[in-house]
Parts: sequence; structure tokens; C-alpha cells
Amino acid sequence: MHELSLAESIRAIVEETAQAQGCTLVRTVVLEIGELSSVEVEALRFCLDAVLRDTPAAGAVIEIDALPGVGWCPACDRSVPLAQRYDPCPYCGGYQLRPTGGLEMRVREIEIE
Ligand SMILES: [Zn+2]
Repeated sequence: MHELSLAESIRAIVEETAQAQGCTLVRTVVLEIGELSSVEVEALRFCLDAVLRDTPAAGAVIEIDALPGVGWCPACDRSVPLAQRYDPCPYCGGYQLRPTGGLEMRVREIEIE
């Protein structure tokens, strides 16, 4: 399951950060999840809840920032909004779009005590 392995790598980052700073309580974890990353945010929240249970981040607020999808259309020679990975270009209708933004899955910020 995609979300579970993502949740586990987030836990590793959170634990490392907490340990490096000698902290025992993580207040907030801010994640950036792109619209094209195919991560189910609700499933991810559920998995995080489970994997963070015995860590300093148990009970931390998980903020998820959804980044909009962006694609590059070679026909139009410009970046265009892309809601789903295999959508056509909204300007020329072409299917040559290469996703360039909204693929992120990363920890942006960890707030600790
Ligand atoms: Zn186009």
C-alpha cells in the first residue's frame, strides 16, 4: 500500500528530526502533497495516525498542503494547469502534457517543543 510506505518514510524523517534536536514532543508536521502524486490524503492521514502512535509525534497536528498539478505542453510551448495526470491540454486538447508540478510528496516543516 502506497500510503503506508509513505507514512513510514514520514515517520523516519520526523523521528530523526526529533532525535537530532533532542525533543520529546512534535507539535505539527506540515506535508506537501501534489495533486498528481496519486496519494489519497484521507488514507495517508489514517496511516500516519497508526505509525506515529509510539513516536514523539503521537497526537501532532498533521497539516497537508495540496499543491496544484502543472503540466508542460510542447505544442503550446507553455505550462498549463493539470488536474489529473492523463488529462489533455486545456488550450489545444493535445495529450502531450508532461507533468512538471504537483508531483511532490514531502515533509515541509516539523514544529517541535
Ligand atoms: Zn497545448
